[in-house]
Amino acid sequence: MAESPEPLDFLDVDHLLTDEERAVKDTVHGWVADRVLPGIDGWFEAGEFPLEVAKELGAMGLLGMHLSGYECAGANAVSYGIACLELESGDSGFRSFVSVQGSLCMFPIWRFGSEEQKQRWLPPMARGEVIGCFGLTEPDAGSDPARMRTSAKRDGDGWVLSGTKMWITNGSVADLAIVWANTDEGIRGFLVPTDSPGFSAKDVHRKLSLRASVTSELVLDEVRLPADAVLPEVTGMKGPLSCLFEARFGIVWGAMGAARACFQTALEYATTRVQWGRPIGGFQLTQRKLADMAVQLNTGTLLALHLGRMKDEGRLLPQHISMGKLNNVREALTIARESRSILGASGITLEYPVIRHMNNLESVLTYEGTSEIHTLIVGEALTGLRAFE
Ligand SMILES: Cc1cc2nc3c(=O)[nH]c(=O)nc-3n(C[C@H](O)[C@H](O)[C@H](O)COP(=O)(O)OP(=O)(O)OC[C@H]3O[C@@H](n4cnc5c(N)ncnc54)[C@H](O)[C@@H]3O)c2cc1C
Repeated sequence: MAESPEPLDFLDVDHLLTDEERAVKDTVHGWVADRVLPGIDGWFEAGEFPLEVAKELGAMGLLGMHLSGYECAGANAVSYGIACLELESGDSGFRSFVSVQGSLCMFPIWRFGSEEQKQRWLPPMARGEVIGCFGLTEPDAGSDPARMRTSAKRDGDGWVLSGTKMWITNGSVADLAIVWANTDEGIRGFLVPTDSPGFSAKDVHRKLSLRASVTSELVLDEVRLPADAVLPEVTGMKGPLSCLFEARFGIVWGAMGAARACFQTALEYATTRVQWGRPIGGFQLTQRKLADMAVQLNTGTLLALHLGRMKDEGRLLPQHISMGKLNNVREALTIARESRSILGASGITLEYPVIRHMNNLESVLTYEGTSEIHTLIVGEALTGLRAFE
């Protein structure tokens, strides 16, 4: 038979990876096959995240993977991206867990923390022994977090924090919350141990998306913190935005993992499901769907790799990430929906992973900057005109 491209890696993107990057891919792929795929339907249905995997993720070096020192793996950006892709091919909840821990919680400590804060928190977080959450969004401040109401007031030597944070991943299971609050000097980041008096977390229930992930409301009722609870090296929105920059990079890759899982399922189904006496993959309309999906999957993966190489070269700008997140999450959702249609009625149950990924991707489209916000960031970069407000 004539040589033909590999359906799941049509453009041979694998060839562009280093041996080390390929090793990360194989390790995480294998772990997802062993530890995520057998249990994910049950966790999704029950609305649970299996927290016991945190230490396994830590042992694989995936927590704070792209940071150096303090027991972090010090991997390059592309390796981190590949890990996100493979994790999200299992479920977006697992990639979310790793993103929140590494990019949203460990990164600000690593980048803006004091030496004492780094020594105290980063090693146990890298091992998965201390779980973090990132509190930026509030009930009345989502896309426009600068208008947050949570405040931190100086009280003698220390601080008193008051306010409510909403939609916080890992909120009720976290040991440490990174809370962004308004102070007299502007927005600052605080390290809040979740056993502090006045801190409480309540889970959001009845979610139909990202069910294998904990989402909570945080209440800070006059939480007293010592002077050294504040991240000393940053003031203003630059703090939380630089964390989001890191996490959005992981999403650019992760979305392609969810898309690949959907495409793979649809392709297998299309070649085995028979109607009108032949596999439905033999009909032109199905082939058009599959070909479009393959184009989107391959271009999205190449885009992720391109942004990863730019990040490793220190050339990546926030606007580049916005273009990546905008394209890859949007295309992943299109792939998920097209895959769902190829599966017909079978596509609506948890028997196949497609509708689970599709529902998860609705959250991914919204968090870390909605698609509209990333459109406006790209629009501003193109025109020099700001259209947010
Ligand atoms: C599962 C999940 C987990 C999350 N985890 C975290 C977390 O760990 N930590 C955290 O801090 N937050 C978290 N979030 C919150 C998330 O970041 C916010 O939901 C997101 O920023 C959007 O805010 P919002 O939901 O309040 O929507 P809104 O800001 O109210 O937006 C509603 C709609 O209006 C549109 N819109 C807003 N402004 C404009 C504009 N200027 N022009 C055009 N359209 C506009 C939006 O794009 C959107 O379509 C999570 C959310 C989800 C769903």
